[in-house]
Amino acid sequence: MAVKIPAAEFAVIGGSSTYAIDFPESLGLAEVEVLRKGLVFETPYGQSPEFKLFTVAGKRVLTCKMHGWRKWQEDLSRARASQQIFWVFMQAGVKRIIAEGGVGAINHLLEPRDIVVPSDYIDQSLRKDVDLNQGYLLMMRQAICPELHQNLYSQAKDNPLGRAFQRGNYVVTEGRHFESPAEIQLYKQGGGDVVGQTLCPEVYLAREIGACYAGVYLVVNYAEGIVEDWSHDELKELFHNQGQVIAEIILKAIKDTTLEQKCSCSDLRKETMIKETNRGE
Ligand SMILES: [Zn+2]
Repeated sequence: MAVKIPAAEFAVIGGSSTYAIDFPESLGLAEVEVLRKGLVFETPYGQSPEFKLFTVAGKRVLTCKMHGWRKWQEDLSRARASQQIFWVFMQAGVKRIIAEGGVGAINHLLEPRDIVVPSDYIDQSLRKDVDLNQGYLLMMRQAICPELHQNLYSQAKDNPLGRAFQRGNYVVTEGRHFESPAEIQLYKQGGGDVVGQTLCPEVYLAREIGACYAGVYLVVNYAEGIVEDWSHDELKELFHNQGQVIAEIILKAIKDTTLEQKCSCSDLRKETMIKETNRGE
C-alpha cells in the first residue's frame, strides 16, 4: 500500500555488497534503531522499491536495495529505478547520499577485497539524459562530495579484508554483461581504476536534488585482461560474506557526517538558461 514519504537527511543505496545482509539491523549496533520497514511509495516513475527508515546516532536515514529491486522487476530499466528512488529522496528532503557496490579492478595494483572510495568517474554508460525534470544545469566538478568522501575513507582505511584507497576513477558501463578485454584496455588508458555499473546516473540525480553523493566499493574481481582471469567462486564468496564490513563503514561514516553541508555541493546546480544551453541546436 502506498504511504506518505517520511523526512530523512541521509540515504543509503544498497548495492551488491550489502545485498545478502539485513541492513542495518544485522550489525547489531546500539545506536541504530529501525523505525519503519516495507515502505513502498507511488512515484511519477512507477511504484518504488521497499524502503526502510532508521536512525543512527539520531540521524534519519532512508535505505533501499537497488540490486534486488532490479532483479525482481526484470522489465525495469536502471534509469527508471534510479528515477524512482531519487524522486523519493527529493520528497524526503535527503541531503547526503551514500552508495555502495562491487567493482572490478582496472588498475593492476588493486586486488580483490581492497576497498576504493572513488574521487571521480568516467561515464561510459548510455544513460546520459536521466533526470527528474527539475530544470537545473548540473556542474559535475566535485561530483563526489569531499566531506562524505573523507568520512567514508576514514572508516574504510582499517579495512579488515584488504587495503583501502581514497583516490580513483570509477568507470561506469552500461551492462548488464561485463566488459571485453579491449574495452578494459581503453578504459585503463583513459585513466580508469575500477569499473562498475551504478555511479551514473545516480551522481547526476543527486546533484539535481541538491544532495551530496559519495560511494564506497569493494573490489570483487579483476576486470577482463587485468592480472588474471577472475573466478566465479571468489566473486560469490565476496558477494555473500563481506556485506558486514561495508555496512559498518557506511553507518560509522554517517555518524561522523554533520547535517550542515560545508562542501558547497548544493551550489553546483544552477537554473537552466534554456536558450543558451541548447548547445548548437
Ligand atoms: Zn557535499
